[in-house]
Amino acid sequence: MKYDSVIIGSGITGLTSALVLAQHGYRVAIVEKNRSIAPLLRRFKRGNVWCDPGFHYSGGFEESGVLSILLRYLRMRDDIRPIPMVNDGYDILYLDDREIPIPCGMEQVGETLCTYFPRSKQAINKYIEKIRLIMEATPFVNFDINWDDFARSPYNTESLEHFLDSVGAEEDLKELLGQYGRFLYGVSAGEVPLSIHALIMGSFYKSPKTLMHGGDEIVDAYEKRLQQEGVDIFCNNPAIKIEVDDNRRLKTIKTGNGEMLECEHCISTIHPSLLADILPADAVRPAYLSRLRGLENTNPPFAVYLEVDNVPEKIAYSNLYKLSRLTEKSIGVMACDPIKYDNKKRGLCILRESPENKFPKERYGSYKRTAAYIEYKQRETNNLVTQFKELLPGIAGGVKVVDSATSYTYERYTGTPGGSMYGVKQSVNQIKLSSLTAIRGFYLAGQSIHLPGIMGGVISGFLGASNIIGLETIWNEVRECR
Ligand SMILES: Cc1cc2nc3c(=O)[nH]c(=O)nc-3n(C[C@H](O)[C@H](O)[C@H](O)COP(=O)(O)OP(=O)(O)OC[C@H]3O[C@@H](n4cnc5c(N)ncnc54)[C@H](O)[C@@H]3O)c2cc1C
Repeated sequence: MKYDSVIIGSGITGLTSALVLAQHGYRVAIVEKNRSIAPLLRRFKRGNVWCDPGFHYSGGFEESGVLSILLRYLRMRDDIRPIPMVNDGYDILYLDDREIPIPCGMEQVGETLCTYFPRSKQAINKYIEKIRLIMEATPFVNFDINWDDFARSPYNTESLEHFLDSVGAEEDLKELLGQYGRFLYGVSAGEVPLSIHALIMGSFYKSPKTLMHGGDEIVDAYEKRLQQEGVDIFCNNPAIKIEVDDNRRLKTIKTGNGEMLECEHCISTIHPSLLADILPADAVRPAYLSRLRGLENTNPPFAVYLEVDNVPEKIAYSNLYKLSRLTEKSIGVMACDPIKYDNKKRGLCILRESPENKFPKERYGSYKRTAAYIEYKQRETNNLVTQFKELLPGIAGGVKVVDSATSYTYERYTGTPGGSMYGVKQSVNQIKLSSLTAIRGFYLAGQSIHLPGIMGGVISGFLGASNIIGLETIWNEVRECR
């Protein structure tokens, strides 16, 4: 079979690249190892409630926001219905004995932080101002930038921690911003580039939104548009080999079902380390392959899904974060199913980062899980439920665990090594991976190599496609959708 472009992986990034290319008249195929597209975004039902695996909320959905502009370009904005979160506390942070509601709006976030950390008022003002400046200077976050002023990446090597130290922020504030951000991009304050923190947190601060039907709403909208554009989707069909000609130009993508997809270009959106086994060894330098294999990743999550009776109004449209100086003691509680909120049964997800893989892979079992693994999963689940009940003692009565997921569950879903939550770690200590490779016509996107999260994936999908269509062309077109 012959295509202009093949996309490997159907997460948010791959779906976006595929659609951008198809809208430009390219004949596109997507290959996906899972049995359906976007396994990290598709919801599943347990008991009476829906559970969201990899999407709970995002910034950028406001009318003039990044996601609205890019989804408008993809002609699907009307199919996605963002729901506002609680204006004066979309996230409620607990640190020691303090309860800090984070309001919507950059200015309001600054004011709230000043109320709780009056000694750091100057530092907070500089922090908010810095976030604004970084957002303003970043293409695909600010669409008013002219092509002539287009600096492709505002990536810098200053960490969040270094910046907060330089402006004299007190320790507790540093702890709060570091641990909170870590949930939303998976990197510690000492490692995360200030620019990544600013772009992700800034978009949440400005306008956090959830979606009427969670991740399903995104997947359904993409599925509809891909069908309209005639994109072929091969599920249950992983890419297993990439073949090139004598000039290191991409030739074919071989899939697990034996398909040979001839193509001019390919955008790979799977975790880059997985490519080390499928790239032709004689077409790329061994040092590149070992770099891919050795990439540092964000940690995996451990998730517990609950069916809860009589959810307090406090968490109907807000998330709770119990932050601890010990990362593995921090938990986030996110509501699933906002449409169902009627003070009755409701799905909630408790998330915790697993700092190191606590359970050795040899003891996991492949198709049949070992007793040791089942016991480990149960123990961790109980721990999280206990932490949750301590956080919200009032609802202790009607809490039922309907499912839980370990790092192995996520690894099985997406193939991402170790079940990493956001993919590649964006760190001041790790050299940024380029979208370009030594193979002509073969590009990388997604997995946080540009920016983490759903918004990051959509932007990365556009940047991946821009290698083929031309960045200036895409930039001028997306600006029309402001
Ligand atoms: C528990 C959890 C909660 C999250 N919550 C949020 C949130 O609320 N908001 C937010 O913005 N972000 C959230 N995220 C992050 C967000 O889900 C991810 O950053 C984003 O979905 C990554 O998209 P991607 O396309 O880069 O990668 P992926 O979604 O991992 O896509 C890669 C695809 O490639 C496929 N694949 C792997 N190997 C092969 C192969 N050999 N051949 C073909 N296909 C292959 C995989 O099956 C997968 O479908 C969350 C993540 C997790 C884990």
